[in-house]
Amino acid sequence: MLKPTFKKIYYEKDIVNYELGKYLLDKYNNIPKIEIKSHNNIEELRKYENKDFGKLKHYLIIGTRKTHKYVENHKISDYLVPFSSSGCYAMCMYCYLVCNYNKCSYLRVFVNTKEILDRLIKFSNESDKELVFEIGSNSDLLLENLVTNTLKDNTEYFLKNTKKGKLTFPTKFNLIEPLLSISDKKRVIPRMSLNPDNIIKKVEFGTSNLKERLDAINKLVENGYKPYILIAPVIITDTFENDYKALIQEMKEKLSTKAQKKITFEIIFMTYSYVHRKINEEAFPKAINLYSKELMTSRGIGKYHYRNDVKDKCKSYILNLLHKNFKDCIIKYVV
Ligand code: SF4
Repeated sequence: MLKPTFKKIYYEKDIVNYELGKYLLDKYNNIPKIEIKSHNNIEELRKYENKDFGKLKHYLIIGTRKTHKYVENHKISDYLVPFSSSGCYAMCMYCYLVCNYNKCSYLRVFVNTKEILDRLIKFSNESDKELVFEIGSNSDLLLENLVTNTLKDNTEYFLKNTKKGKLTFPTKFNLIEPLLSISDKKRVIPRMSLNPDNIIKKVEFGTSNLKERLDAINKLVENGYKPYILIAPVIITDTFENDYKALIQEMKEKLSTKAQKKITFEIIFMTYSYVHRKINEEAFPKAINLYSKELMTSRGIGKYHYRNDVKDKCKSYILNLLHKNFKDCIIKYVV
């Protein structure tokens, strides 16, 4: 389902005042459209039930971004920046964007990208130091690009209008073509998210498979990027050891020699929630159950994470394999 198959479009009236708004209305001129007051509150979608989760993924919402609050971050970037979209039309069963399924699950694209970028450029210019901006924490920008076709232009606009600052974003897609001709690849850090193929097939519905993602890493490296690799989210099932061993073996076999040099890894264990459980039970009744009473514990109301002892054991297992196979790798963090 890489290609979008939208069945309905909800749009704010003033998108016609933006080039991107006009482009999208024209591009999807055959798809039924409904005018809305605000992309944040679409009354009729709020009434959908959990079992209708998949249907919502076929709706595209187009509006303007009104909130531009940057959140400090201390992992890979300095700030999380609300960017050109929110939500996604893939269906990873653990996606944290499913915070409130009838608001965050579907893809919302924002047409006021110049305003979003100008703020970011100003912020970057006014800073004393070179900052790294995470622009993909609300969406998968490579997938969004299939709809808006703006990733390359947005990136170039940032690079040309500020002499400092870097952009970074994670992805689960091999749709890297628009990145290959970017002018300054040292200031853009794509981060490819990997999981064992077994997990991708069972849990990350509608994303690129492992081989495609590994090929994309090789291509990025060949074209001058230094992409990071996210092993995320680590999911503990009965086949955990075999799955992650197979993943690391496949990385070893398929990543080019150049790509294997000093790989920077981020490792993130899955967190889950009551909302995910309810949606997944009803929307994907035949899918794997990601909740485990034995392995997980609560953190906050309705939020689950793996017990520390369980996580520590699995963390050692993965780190061991990584250090054995990629001797000079850098592990940025494990959470
Ligand atoms: S690709 Fe990323 S944003 Fe899209 S559903 Fe999966 S985890 Fe969420």
